[in-house]
Amino acid sequence: MSIQIPRGTQDILPGEVEKWQYVEEVAKSLCHNYQYKEIRTPIFEASELFTRGVGDTTDIVQKEMYMFEDQGGRSLALRPEGTASVVRSFVGNKMFGYPNQPTKLFYSGPMFRYERPQAGRYRQFVQFGVEALGSEDPAIDAEVISLAMGIYKELGLTQLKLVINSLGDADSRNAHREALINHFKPSIDEFCGDCQNRLEKNPLRILDCKKDRDHELMGTAPSILDYLNDESKNYFEKVQTHLSDMDVEFVVDPTLVRGLDYYNHTAFEIMSEAEGFGAITTLCGGGRYNGLVQMIGGPETPGIGFAFSIERLLSALEAEGIELPIEHGVECFIVSLGKEAKDYSVKLLHTLRAAGISSEKDYLDRKVKGQFKAADRYDAKYVAVIGDNELQENKINLKNMSTGEQEEISLDHFVEKMKNKLGK
Ligand code: ATP
Ligand code: MG
Repeated sequence: MSIQIPRGTQDILPGEVEKWQYVEEVAKSLCHNYQYKEIRTPIFEASELFTRGVGDTTDIVQKEMYMFEDQGGRSLALRPEGTASVVRSFVGNKMFGYPNQPTKLFYSGPMFRYERPQAGRYRQFVQFGVEALGSEDPAIDAEVISLAMGIYKELGLTQLKLVINSLGDADSRNAHREALINHFKPSIDEFCGDCQNRLEKNPLRILDCKKDRDHELMGTAPSILDYLNDESKNYFEKVQTHLSDMDVEFVVDPTLVRGLDYYNHTAFEIMSEAEGFGAITTLCGGGRYNGLVQMIGGPETPGIGFAFSIERLLSALEAEGIELPIEHGVECFIVSLGKEAKDYSVKLLHTLRAAGISSEKDYLDRKVKGQFKAADRYDAKYVAVIGDNELQENKINLKNMSTGEQEEISLDHFVEKMKNKLGK
């Protein structure tokens, strides 16, 4: 019996993988413009990092984490998200002492969550995310949001909705928390078991519940915006002003919450409004977390970041019918006839590749016709034909496959000419 791929995972095959590389490249290059530097952290961490850093009342930690014990008896977890690891590294490497502050980082890599697989929801998925640590300037919030939007726009997405909210500072949150408890408590029996647990521990998460989202008390729940103190209000207004100045469109949605204790002030999500995108419309989630660094054992440091998955980004591109400008073709395919020409083609191929030209030849002893067919399948820009006769005369025949033009070129100048033609 053949062995199946694990549920909720996927192979990304040639033909598809180029899209991944393309979008990752766009995201990385925009991060460079914004001066976010790449960080790579391990795929597994001490389980405690996530129970502390993500929070043991969250679905991620309670239900979705892949945990295991290693031979040394340590409890480890496959990382379900990137922020906790970045913060662990920031603290462990004392990045807060680096001369350039705030510390602006991005990451890209697989995350693991034991979820019910469905469209847009995998057990292994790739998240691209950024974190800016060490500044509490609302301009950084606006920068992080505009970077996320910038990546999507650069890729051609237009049917996007940016939703922002403020969770306020600790005082505002506490006042709101009390109001939420008072609001839900009398009828908490009508809610799911998870929500009943959340009531005292983290009532904000009730607003995020997928099971109870239609309960009438959800719509009438006290809005955080009514509980923001002046400082928090000013902060939120400043973020909005910066976004408007940058022509980043947004809507304020007071029901948008991030349920973790350490989240405060800005929270945001980017949704796809493309028809046919499916039930899960959130592409990207982010927000400010001013307590997390301390929770992980570092000095009090404000932070903000976002994360999105490449899987959902690619679905959004597909839903909007966007074709990425990916070059599939090989630049030069060598067709050879005759024994000596065949041997010579091995050497010539090597020279072309060394000159930075993507090139290919036949390795299956195909007849000339078969070699031309192969060149077509490789979508070759140029086909270089060399036979024993040409070899003796020190020349090669080059065919431009898009114009059909043919010319004879001296072998001495062939590589140079190819470079010119290809603009290299
Ligand atoms: P959801 O409500 O969809 O479960 P979440 O709150 O768990 O999202 P976050 O932890 O904020 O998501 O992760 C940020 C982003 O990572 C999401 O907006 C989404 O793009 C992506 N993401 C999260 N879980 C998955 C998954 N299982 N498969 C693919 N992408 C995911
Ligand atoms: Mg989730």
